[in-house]
Amino acid sequence: MRILLVEDEIAIASFISEGLQEEGFSMDIAHNGKEGLMMALDESSEYDLILLDWMLPGLSGIEICRSIRMENMTVPIIFLTAKDTVDDVVFGLETGANDYIRKPFAFDELLARIRVLLRSSEDINHMYSVGDILMDVAAHRVTKAGVQVKLTQKEFALLEWLLREKGKVCRRTSIIEKVWDIHFNHDTGVIDVYINFLRKKLDSPGKESFVETIRGVGYRVNDVL
Ligand code: CA
Repeated sequence: MRILLVEDEIAIASFISEGLQEEGFSMDIAHNGKEGLMMALDESSEYDLILLDWMLPGLSGIEICRSIRMENMTVPIIFLTAKDTVDDVVFGLETGANDYIRKPFAFDELLARIRVLLRSSEDINHMYSVGDILMDVAAHRVTKAGVQVKLTQKEFALLEWLLREKGKVCRRTSIIEKVWDIHFNHDTGVIDVYINFLRKKLDSPGKESFVETIRGVGYRVNDVL
């Protein structure tokens, strides 16, 4: 996941970017408004989320946010703002930001808000990811480290269900219901067969599997590999 941080205060920028890097995000930083807008609009960068300071030299966060939305880019945007009157916040959200956080903030709160937005944008775009595995449901396409992986219909459906429930345990009974559409007491052994197919196609050699076996219960794809 790649995040653009537009923040002119160097100390705050490094505090945020170091923290997020430790959480596994790739970070790009812009220290003024113009640079921030240029980076945000650069199609080759494909940010998953933008953290936007409100008061910036050059262009304000509001102006940047407006320009991004005028280009019909749906990337989630969180404002970092010291402004805290209700009017300002409403105005900020009306320009197309998804959320805002008031300075000074606790890093954990920022991280929680980022995760919520990333999860809902994955759902809207029907794009799911874990590690270097990326699933584009609308395009019916799965890639690993950028290379397309061919899956059968059942493998695809199973992977979609596992990724959609990322972080949660998928119980064997719910997998057999949702993926195989079998609603009565049925042998669930077929799930293990298909999990093995997915592991063969998507695991990295010598590393832990992207899907964890929860013995006696089911399977879970963890947020971080
Ligand atoms: Ca500022």
